[in-house]
Amino acid sequence: MRLPAHLYVHVPLCRSKCAYCDFYSLPLSSATEGTTAVANSLAAQALAWLDRDVAPRPLRSVYIGGGTPSVLGADLARLVEVLTSSFPLEPDVEVTIEANPESLDRNLVEALARAGVTRVSLGAQSLDDTVLAFLERPHDAAAVRAAARAVHEAGLALSLDLICGIPGQTAQSWIDTVNGAINLGPEHVSVYPLSIEAGTPLAAAVAIGDVQEPDPDVAADMMLLAQHVLGQAGLERYEVANYARRGAESRHNTAYWTGMPYLGVGPGAHGMLDVETAAAVGFVSARTPGVARLRYAVACDLSAGLTPMPRVDTESLSRVEAAREDVMLGLRLVRGVHEEDIVAAGVASVIDGLAEDGLVELVDHRWRTTERGWLLGNEVFGAVWAGE
Ligand code: SF4
Repeated sequence: MRLPAHLYVHVPLCRSKCAYCDFYSLPLSSATEGTTAVANSLAAQALAWLDRDVAPRPLRSVYIGGGTPSVLGADLARLVEVLTSSFPLEPDVEVTIEANPESLDRNLVEALARAGVTRVSLGAQSLDDTVLAFLERPHDAAAVRAAARAVHEAGLALSLDLICGIPGQTAQSWIDTVNGAINLGPEHVSVYPLSIEAGTPLAAAVAIGDVQEPDPDVAADMMLLAQHVLGQAGLERYEVANYARRGAESRHNTAYWTGMPYLGVGPGAHGMLDVETAAAVGFVSARTPGVARLRYAVACDLSAGLTPMPRVDTESLSRVEAAREDVMLGLRLVRGVHEEDIVAAGVASVIDGLAEDGLVELVDHRWRTTERGWLLGNEVFGAVWAGE
């Protein structure tokens, strides 16, 4: 029994709140004791895992997400330094930080590279200033280009996040954004359709008719276009929303989709442990029968979620549920799931039904989503998780 080989750290702060966002993040001004105190608390919570009664495993990936980790500035580089000098690491460990263009300059990128960061996931979202203003992003397209240049000049891998299906976003705007993103030379691109999340300013604007509800058919056309154009540029889709040059797939996110345990640190972070480790750290009773896997979420609270041993909510999964979850997550990947794993998870009849509906297909003994199944992913994943 050893600690997971993957570590996620959540920085719950942003320069300001974007109109569509329901992630757990607070405006920078909420960190009343300053960014240094937040970074120190995150480091202390991560290091507390090394004091528990479970031997660490060399980390294969570290991912600092948010929120906007780059708002921590030089404190982010110090946090990375603490993590990479305290945890045992695989020699080729992947260390990713999420950043926003308005808070990532050349000095910070260089400090991050010196601290051990290998990869920057840049929240670009669009290269159209009108679209960025509509989303209430705190940056313009010029800032995206400048930040991308800085990442390359520091020799780090670049991933760009893009959003499609935005009300008012024209087909030409989307084509220009995808082509503009390719011109920035990323190794990895993520493409998400805009989703209207309850409680956001955008949801309120849609509810009163100020903003038109996104059209899923328009979003689907934009996703198909992105797949085509990115593929021609050598960025192949390997997951529902993710594209990469060969060998540049996100190791950290692939761990999520392949059922690997991972530590989650920081307010709002999620983690997943095998049952032996969960019992050893007291998240589940060693005598709880039938539990195979434990998911936990650190309290969404800048006080309770930032202590070395924070309050966590836990969810236990039985062996059957864990197997179904593995299939559900595995179907997110273009390579799909081996037919034997489908049978072992007890979802063969579900998959047969999805195949009849043209949502999945069997290729070389692996079940994977068809193009229609990719675009209707939630239907596929929901059916597998429900087991019916
Ligand atoms: S920068 Fe990202 S996490 Fe922060 S408010 Fe905007 S979308 Fe949400």
